[in-house]
Amino acid sequence: MSDTLHKFLFDAGSSTRSPVRGEIVSLASTWQQIKERHPYPEPVLRMLGELVAASTLLSANLKFNGALIMQIHGDGPVRLLVVECNADLTVRATVKLSSDETIADDTTFTDLVNARGEGRFAITLDPRDRSQGQPYQGIVPLEGESVAAALEGYMRRSEQLDTQLWLAADGEHANGLLLQKLPLDGGGPGTVFDPDAEARAEEVWERAITFADTLERDELLKVDPPTLMRRLFWEETLAVYDPVPCAFRCSCTRQRVAAMLVSLGEREVDETLAEMGGIHVDCEFCNRSYDFDTVDCAQLFATSNTLDGLRTAHQQRH
Ligand SMILES: [Zn+2]
Repeated sequence: MSDTLHKFLFDAGSSTRSPVRGEIVSLASTWQQIKERHPYPEPVLRMLGELVAASTLLSANLKFNGALIMQIHGDGPVRLLVVECNADLTVRATVKLSSDETIADDTTFTDLVNARGEGRFAITLDPRDRSQGQPYQGIVPLEGESVAAALEGYMRRSEQLDTQLWLAADGEHANGLLLQKLPLDGGGPGTVFDPDAEARAEEVWERAITFADTLERDELLKVDPPTLMRRLFWEETLAVYDPVPCAFRCSCTRQRVAAMLVSLGEREVDETLAEMGGIHVDCEFCNRSYDFDTVDCAQLFATSNTLDGLRTAHQQRH
């Protein structure tokens, strides 16, 4: 049951829509593959693992084919933390550390990213297909003393659904639980406010939170999702969906790196070639290296100039 996300809905015991959605994710091999590429200090890894788990929990409800990108812009020893999760729950992640600060094992979340209170939390929704819209980014100040608290703060400020998260990561797992309060009527026209249904829904939500709050970090890390679900919510009637697989995947390709070089411009590329004898690019997410020598670069710009030439010729004819 490794590396799966489990979705479930709480039943309010009547004909009303489900008032609460739940998700549990457990990542082992996905987390190992991210971790082994980045030898970060322990407190940074814990924070990264929690954000990786959270990214899958939020991506699981994306309504478009694209990526959810979470960024923590820190003002402490961690400068930037990026986690990108696609709608198919493939994920990649990276961290930029400031080079001149050491990180002790007991460094807190606040010390790492919000030491002067200037940390920021950003979520970008990036549709792969631009016909589904432009990328959207929301940025809020970092609040709270954990990844979960920062995310809950983001959700509150961006007026999203009431959401609570329980996250944990260690050397082996990056796991998480999400509970989200759903709008009862969907907010559509002609919906009638039913105070009884509202009260029942609120009761289910409060109960779900109370049970989830009994969850110990160790339990979240070590118990498999179906067992955890039963253990926490055994008194509830749950509708449980088939588990969805999660995996590590980096979307970098030689073609994308080439496109990036072309966008830098021929002059800058030529200058680097003259200075270094070749161009070496490391993907910061997966560490894969891409090398371009003088011939490769000449080809890049020959192709791109030809394409530009064709495009210009084409435009001139119209
Ligand atoms: Zn890569």
